[in-house]
Amino acid sequence: MKISVVIPVYNEEEIIPVLYERVSSAMIKWIDDFEIICVNDGSKDRTIDLLIDCHRKDPRWKVVSLSRNFGHQAAFLAGLTHASGDLIAMIDGDLQDPPELLENFKNKILDGYDVVFGVRKKRKEIVWKKLAYKIYYRFLKKVSQVPIPLDSGDFSMITRNVLNEILASKEHSLFIRGIRSWVGFQQFGYEYERDKRYGGEPKYTLKKLFQLAYNGVFSFSTF
Ligand code: UDP
Ligand code: MG
Repeated sequence: MKISVVIPVYNEEEIIPVLYERVSSAMIKWIDDFEIICVNDGSKDRTIDLLIDCHRKDPRWKVVSLSRNFGHQAAFLAGLTHASGDLIAMIDGDLQDPPELLENFKNKILDGYDVVFGVRKKRKEIVWKKLAYKIYYRFLKKVSQVPIPLDSGDFSMITRNVLNEILASKEHSLFIRGIRSWVGFQQFGYEYERDKRYGGEPKYTLKKLFQLAYNGVFSFSTF
Protein backbone atom coordinates (compact mmCIF):
# COMPACT_ATOMS: atom_id res chain seq x y z
CA MET A 1 0.00 0.00 0.00
CA LYS A 2 1.32 3.42 -0.96
CA ILE A 3 0.15 6.70 0.60
CA SER A 4 0.21 10.11 -1.08
CA VAL A 5 -0.12 13.27 0.97
CA VAL A 6 -0.90 16.47 -0.92
CA ILE A 7 0.02 19.79 0.74
CA PRO A 8 -0.60 23.23 -0.87
CA VAL A 9 1.80 25.95 0.26
CA TYR A 10 1.89 29.64 -0.45
CA ASN A 11 4.59 31.81 1.13
CA GLU A 12 5.17 29.42 4.02
CA GLU A 13 8.97 29.75 4.39
CA GLU A 14 8.63 29.93 8.19
CA ILE A 15 6.86 26.60 8.35
CA ILE A 16 8.45 24.31 5.73
CA PRO A 17 11.33 23.00 7.93
CA VAL A 18 8.92 22.14 10.76
CA LEU A 19 6.38 20.75 8.30
CA TYR A 20 9.08 18.44 6.93
CA GLU A 21 10.02 17.14 10.38
CA ARG A 22 6.47 16.72 11.64
CA VAL A 23 4.98 15.09 8.57
CA SER A 24 8.00 12.82 8.06
CA SER A 25 8.03 11.56 11.63
CA ALA A 26 4.24 11.07 11.63
CA MET A 27 4.48 8.97 8.46
CA ILE A 28 7.54 6.80 9.13
CA LYS A 29 5.87 5.52 12.30
CA TRP A 30 3.49 3.43 10.23
CA ILE A 31 4.52 3.36 6.58
CA ASP A 32 7.63 3.35 4.36
CA ASP A 33 5.97 3.62 1.01
CA PHE A 34 4.68 7.18 0.84
CA GLU A 35 5.09 10.38 -1.14
CA ILE A 36 4.53 13.91 0.07
CA ILE A 37 3.49 16.16 -2.80
CA CYS A 38 3.97 19.81 -1.89
CA VAL A 39 2.34 22.20 -4.30
CA ASN A 40 4.04 25.57 -4.40
CA ASP A 41 1.20 27.93 -5.28
CA GLY A 42 3.25 30.74 -6.82
CA SER A 43 5.08 31.69 -3.60
CA LYS A 44 7.19 34.83 -3.64
CA ASP A 45 9.37 33.98 -0.64
CA ARG A 46 11.89 31.13 -0.20
CA THR A 47 9.22 28.41 -0.09
CA ILE A 48 10.33 26.79 -3.36
CA ASP A 49 14.00 26.59 -2.30
CA LEU A 50 13.04 25.05 1.01
CA LEU A 51 10.79 22.51 -0.72
CA ILE A 52 13.65 21.51 -3.03
CA ASP A 53 15.81 21.05 0.10
CA CYS A 54 13.15 18.68 1.45
CA HIS A 55 13.32 16.68 -1.79
CA ARG A 56 17.13 16.50 -1.55
CA LYS A 57 16.88 15.20 2.01
CA ASP A 58 14.18 12.67 1.19
CA PRO A 59 13.13 11.99 -2.43
CA ARG A 60 9.72 10.87 -1.14
CA TRP A 61 9.10 14.61 -0.78
CA LYS A 62 8.11 15.91 -4.22
CA VAL A 63 7.39 19.37 -5.50
CA VAL A 64 4.81 20.61 -7.99
CA SER A 65 5.34 24.29 -8.65
CA LEU A 66 2.59 26.40 -10.19
CA SER A 67 3.38 29.26 -12.59
CA ARG A 68 1.53 31.79 -10.40
CA ASN A 69 -0.80 31.92 -7.40
CA PHE A 70 -3.94 29.97 -8.39
CA GLY A 71 -5.38 29.52 -4.89
CA HIS A 72 -5.58 26.76 -2.30
CA GLN A 73 -8.23 24.64 -4.04
CA ALA A 74 -6.53 24.72 -7.44
CA ALA A 75 -3.23 23.86 -5.75
CA PHE A 76 -4.84 20.82 -4.11
CA LEU A 77 -6.22 19.74 -7.47
CA ALA A 78 -2.81 20.08 -9.14
CA GLY A 79 -1.29 17.91 -6.41
CA LEU A 80 -4.09 15.34 -6.66
CA THR A 81 -3.47 14.87 -10.38
CA HIS A 82 0.14 13.88 -9.56
CA ALA A 83 -0.67 11.52 -6.69
CA SER A 84 0.25 7.89 -7.33
CA GLY A 85 -0.79 6.36 -3.98
CA ASP A 86 -3.51 3.83 -3.23
CA LEU A 87 -4.71 6.16 -0.48
CA ILE A 88 -4.48 9.91 -0.90
CA ALA A 89 -4.50 12.45 1.94
CA MET A 90 -4.95 16.22 1.86
CA ILE A 91 -3.57 18.47 4.57
CA ASP A 92 -2.87 22.21 4.83
CA GLY A 93 0.72 23.35 4.99
CA ASP A 94 0.39 25.41 8.18
CA LEU A 95 0.07 22.37 10.48
CA GLN A 96 -3.50 23.21 11.50
CA ASP A 97 -4.38 19.65 10.51
CA PRO A 98 -2.34 17.25 12.71
CA PRO A 99 -0.46 14.85 10.36
CA GLU A 100 -0.35 12.31 13.21
CA LEU A 101 -4.06 11.65 12.58
CA LEU A 102 -3.42 10.25 9.10
CA GLU A 103 -2.66 6.85 10.61
CA ASN A 104 -6.11 6.84 12.26
CA PHE A 105 -7.68 7.92 8.95
CA LYS A 106 -5.96 4.97 7.24
CA ASN A 107 -7.31 2.60 9.92
CA LYS A 108 -10.86 3.83 9.26
CA ILE A 109 -10.36 3.14 5.54
CA LEU A 110 -9.16 -0.36 6.38
CA ASP A 111 -12.42 -0.74 8.38
CA GLY A 112 -14.27 -0.25 5.09
CA TYR A 113 -14.70 3.48 4.54
CA ASP A 114 -13.69 5.17 1.26
CA VAL A 115 -13.49 8.74 2.54
CA VAL A 116 -12.39 9.86 5.99
CA PHE A 117 -12.60 13.61 6.58
CA GLY A 118 -11.75 15.69 9.62
CA VAL A 119 -14.62 17.35 11.49
CA ARG A 120 -13.52 20.33 13.57
CA LYS A 121 -14.77 19.88 17.12
CA LYS A 122 -12.94 22.96 18.29
CA ARG A 123 -11.29 25.70 16.30
CA LYS A 124 -8.50 27.81 17.68
CA GLU A 125 -9.27 30.85 15.52
CA ILE A 126 -10.26 34.42 16.08
CA VAL A 127 -13.90 34.94 17.11
CA TRP A 128 -15.32 36.54 13.95
CA LYS A 129 -13.85 33.79 11.76
CA LYS A 130 -15.25 31.01 13.97
CA LEU A 131 -18.68 32.63 13.84
CA ALA A 132 -18.56 33.19 10.08
CA TYR A 133 -17.57 29.55 9.45
CA LYS A 134 -20.31 28.29 11.74
CA ILE A 135 -23.01 30.34 10.03
CA TYR A 136 -21.72 29.56 6.54
CA TYR A 137 -21.63 25.78 6.93
CA ARG A 138 -25.13 25.77 8.40
CA PHE A 139 -26.42 27.94 5.57
CA LEU A 140 -24.73 25.70 3.00
CA LYS A 141 -26.33 22.63 4.54
CA LYS A 142 -29.78 24.27 4.24
CA VAL A 143 -29.45 25.27 0.60
CA SER A 144 -27.37 22.51 -0.95
CA GLN A 145 -28.64 19.34 -2.59
CA VAL A 146 -25.49 17.49 -1.59
CA PRO A 147 -25.11 16.46 2.06
CA ILE A 148 -21.97 18.51 2.70
CA PRO A 149 -20.94 17.75 6.29
CA LEU A 150 -20.84 20.57 8.84
CA ASP A 151 -17.48 21.97 9.98
CA SER A 152 -15.32 19.90 7.69
CA GLY A 153 -12.64 21.20 5.36
CA ASP A 154 -10.19 19.54 3.03
CA PHE A 155 -8.31 17.58 5.72
CA SER A 156 -9.07 14.02 4.62
CA MET A 157 -7.95 10.71 3.19
CA ILE A 158 -9.61 9.05 0.20
CA THR A 159 -9.13 5.87 -1.79
CA ARG A 160 -7.82 5.80 -5.36
CA ASN A 161 -11.33 4.95 -6.54
CA VAL A 162 -12.75 8.12 -4.99
CA LEU A 163 -9.89 10.23 -6.36
CA ASN A 164 -10.58 8.96 -9.88
CA GLU A 165 -14.22 10.02 -9.57
CA ILE A 166 -13.27 13.45 -8.21
CA LEU A 167 -10.84 13.99 -11.10
CA ALA A 168 -13.42 12.75 -13.62
CA SER A 169 -15.95 15.35 -12.41
CA LYS A 170 -14.10 18.09 -14.35
CA GLU A 171 -15.46 20.67 -11.89
CA HIS A 172 -13.70 24.01 -12.30
CA SER A 173 -15.31 26.22 -9.63
CA LEU A 174 -13.46 24.24 -7.05
CA PHE A 175 -14.95 23.36 -3.70
CA ILE A 176 -13.20 20.06 -3.06
CA ARG A 177 -15.01 19.30 0.22
CA GLY A 178 -18.28 19.51 -1.76
CA ILE A 179 -17.16 17.27 -4.64
CA ARG A 180 -15.72 14.82 -2.14
CA SER A 181 -19.18 14.50 -0.66
CA TRP A 182 -21.01 14.59 -4.00
CA VAL A 183 -19.20 11.50 -5.35
CA GLY A 184 -20.86 9.32 -2.71
CA PHE A 185 -19.17 6.15 -1.31
CA GLN A 186 -18.84 5.31 2.39
CA GLN A 187 -17.87 8.46 4.26
CA PHE A 188 -16.67 8.86 7.83
CA GLY A 189 -16.34 12.15 9.76
CA TYR A 190 -13.43 12.03 12.23
CA GLU A 191 -13.69 14.59 15.03
CA TYR A 192 -10.54 16.50 15.91
CA GLU A 193 -9.37 19.77 17.36
CA ARG A 194 -8.01 22.10 14.73
CA ASP A 195 -4.77 23.67 15.90
CA LYS A 196 -3.63 27.22 15.46
CA ARG A 197 -1.49 27.92 12.42
CA TYR A 198 2.11 27.05 13.34
CA GLY A 199 3.59 30.37 12.22
CA GLY A 200 3.22 33.22 9.75
CA GLU A 201 0.01 34.90 8.69
CA PRO A 202 -3.07 33.22 7.15
CA LYS A 203 -2.72 33.13 3.37
CA TYR A 204 -6.44 33.11 2.67
CA THR A 205 -7.41 36.72 2.08
CA LEU A 206 -11.00 37.77 2.71
CA LYS A 207 -11.52 37.89 -1.05
CA LYS A 208 -10.29 34.30 -1.46
CA LEU A 209 -12.51 33.13 1.41
CA PHE A 210 -15.54 34.71 -0.24
CA GLN A 211 -14.64 33.07 -3.55
CA LEU A 212 -14.53 29.70 -1.80
CA ALA A 213 -17.82 30.32 -0.01
CA TYR A 214 -19.40 31.43 -3.30
CA ASN A 215 -18.22 28.28 -5.10
CA GLY A 216 -19.65 26.15 -2.30
CA VAL A 217 -23.10 27.68 -2.65
CA PHE A 218 -23.24 28.10 -6.43
CA SER A 219 -21.78 24.68 -7.29
CA PHE A 220 -23.97 22.67 -4.96
CA SER A 221 -27.31 24.46 -4.88
CA THR A 222 -30.05 25.78 -7.12
CA PHE A 223 -31.20 28.01 -4.23
N1 UDP B 1 -2.63 28.38 0.35
C1 UDP B 1 -2.32 28.20 -0.99
N2 UDP B 1 -2.71 29.20 -1.87
C2 UDP B 1 -3.38 30.32 -1.49
C3 UDP B 1 -3.72 30.45 -0.12
C4 UDP B 1 -3.35 29.45 0.77
O1 UDP B 1 -1.72 27.21 -1.38
O2 UDP B 1 -3.67 31.15 -2.35
C5 UDP B 1 -2.20 27.34 1.30
C6 UDP B 1 -1.52 27.87 2.56
O3 UDP B 1 -0.13 28.01 2.38
C7 UDP B 1 -1.88 26.80 3.58
C8 UDP B 1 -3.25 26.32 3.12
O4 UDP B 1 -3.35 26.69 1.76
O5 UDP B 1 -0.98 25.72 3.53
C9 UDP B 1 -4.39 26.93 3.92
O6 UDP B 1 -4.28 28.35 3.90
P1 UDP B 1 -4.50 29.24 5.21
O7 UDP B 1 -3.87 28.57 6.35
O8 UDP B 1 -4.07 30.63 4.91
O9 UDP B 1 -6.07 29.19 5.33
P2 UDP B 1 -6.96 29.25 6.66
O10 UDP B 1 -6.45 28.19 7.58
O11 UDP B 1 -6.78 30.62 7.21
O12 UDP B 1 -8.34 28.98 6.15
MG1 MG C 1 -4.63 27.65 7.99
